[in-house]
Amino acid sequence: MSRVAIVTGGTRGIGEAVSIGLKKAGYKVAANYAGNDDRAKAFAEKHGIAVFKWDVADYDACMKGVAEVVAKFGPVDIVVNNAGITRDSTLKKQSRAQWDEVLDTNLGGCFNMCKAVWDGMLDRGFGRIVNIGSINGQAGQYGQVNYAAAKSGIHGFTKALAQEGAPKGITVNAIAPGYIDTDMVAAVPPNVLEKIVAKIPVGRLGKAEEIARGVLFLVADEGGFVTGSTMSINGGQHMY
Ligand code: NDP
Repeated sequence: MSRVAIVTGGTRGIGEAVSIGLKKAGYKVAANYAGNDDRAKAFAEKHGIAVFKWDVADYDACMKGVAEVVAKFGPVDIVVNNAGITRDSTLKKQSRAQWDEVLDTNLGGCFNMCKAVWDGMLDRGFGRIVNIGSINGQAGQYGQVNYAAAKSGIHGFTKALAQEGAPKGITVNAIAPGYIDTDMVAAVPPNVLEKIVAKIPVGRLGKAEEIARGVLFLVADEGGFVTGSTMSINGGQHMY
């Protein structure tokens, strides 16, 4: 029996590598995305992975989207809450809309997706949830009060939900990536990125596949004793 996995934001960047890694390992994978239809279509054709469009910040859309995945593949065993956005600016310039958008997507999305699958996981006595946090949720980052708060919230959410899932066969863990070579990091101005890379002891950006390896470890059936943990994959930049 192959397990069914949903990867939010699973068509680009880290999520793309996670979707591909899970498929290669034999899981049935549903890759969610928000709006970039061209990238999603190209991804689906290239990798033979089904894609599903919905906004993780929208509670009702998550319920509907998960129902579509269940109709196609069967009950969901694994959710990788990876969808995330940045809307960087200092607090002085940050609008309430920038705050809300980042909190609603990055943290609200975890709540919405967990709500959509939780009862089924409880009923079946099995589940694996992996929430993608960030080094900047652990350490903070200039110009990212919204993003750091959302990612820090993910780490608290993970530890709290892990306690609810533990007696029921459901593990809930987080991964805190450092700086990974994706579109999100490509948006960082080159002079700022240069300074960031200089602070990474491994001496380079991480690869999306290096995060996918962590996800594969956490979602394995054999991973039942690992829960409530945060795996830092950051090239030694922040030893938490
Ligand atoms: P990308 O910007 O490369 O990809 C983001 C993905 O998330 C896309 O598939 C996008 O869909 C999807 N997405 C965005 N908003 C929504 C939404 N509201 N609903 C559904 N899907 C959505 O991001 P990364 O791969 O760089 O980042 C992935 C995760 O890792 C994020 O949570 C990020 O915060 C975290 N992270 C990244 C780091 C990095 O260095 N890259 C470092 C630490 C954490 P679409 O293609 O349709 O836009």
